Amino acid sequence: MRFDVITLFPELFGPFLQHGINRRAFACGAVDVRLWPLRDHAEGHYRRVDDRPFGGGPGMVMLAEPLARCWQAVREQRKAEGAPSVPTVLFSPQGVRIDHALVEREAQGAGAILICGRYEGIDQRFIDQCVDVQLSLGDFVLSGGELAAMALLDAVARLQPGVLNDEGSHQQDSFNPALDGLLDCPHYTRPEVWQGPRGAAVVPPVLLSGHHEQIERWRRQQRLAASARLRPDLLQQARQAGRLSADDEHWLRQLDLPDAGGL
Ligand code: SAM
Repeated sequence: MRFDVITLFPELFGPFLQHGINRRAFACGAVDVRLWPLRDHAEGHYRRVDDRPFGGGPGMVMLAEPLARCWQAVREQRKAEGAPSVPTVLFSPQGVRIDHALVEREAQGAGAILICGRYEGIDQRFIDQCVDVQLSLGDFVLSGGELAAMALLDAVARLQPGVLNDEGSHQQDSFNPALDGLLDCPHYTRPEVWQGPRGAAVVPPVLLSGHHEQIERWRRQQRLAASARLRPDLLQQARQAGRLSADDEHWLRQLDLPDAGGL
């Protein structure tokens, strides 16, 4: 899969692409990321990429022309190299919220052309004519789309085979449909007793028991409890999909939750 990223700040991606677990996916080309500095496609002495908004008001707006030139160059290179045609994605707070299902779809797809906005945003005419989908990280405003692009690339890369140290690792993560879309369970490591600022804290004994079946049951219960407390909407979705067993419901009724079992 190949992602072409159009950005005013390609240098922001350097450390991200070169470090951490995902580096493997980028280095071996499993996730081929190509950076396209937008300023290279700007014209004139000052290589201008933005201008004041028509109608007045604060801030600057990204010009459609350099964006379109860069976007066209990406498409031509992709075509020349036989890369499949892919959607053009603009990161925007007005976009569809990125979630696990979207990341899984992207992880199985051919990639995308990713556009990182800056300033007040992008001339709407470019969006209307060249953008297929707008994606958001959440209901807040960033200074630019680069962090959103890196978030998507990171999430997609870690789902590629051979990227994580342990292949099973993402299987137990939050939102995994194989675990009914629930939140992850708590994790513990050495020491068995930790002297924390609020006193001694021990590891739940079942995790030290070596009893695989009981450990799995405890983990399931913790996933249910975390979801019930923190994300009751996820629990409700699992219930509506018929994914909660009688044992699950019995456990949920025992929890000290105002709405346990009545979601
Ligand atoms: N005026 C725009 C608005 O209120 O919708 C916000 C512009 S923002 C300062 C500049 C750029 O950051 C946007 O064009 C977009 O690419 C990116 N951005 C900001 N917030 C984002 C978010 N929540 N998700 C994805 N991208 C975001």
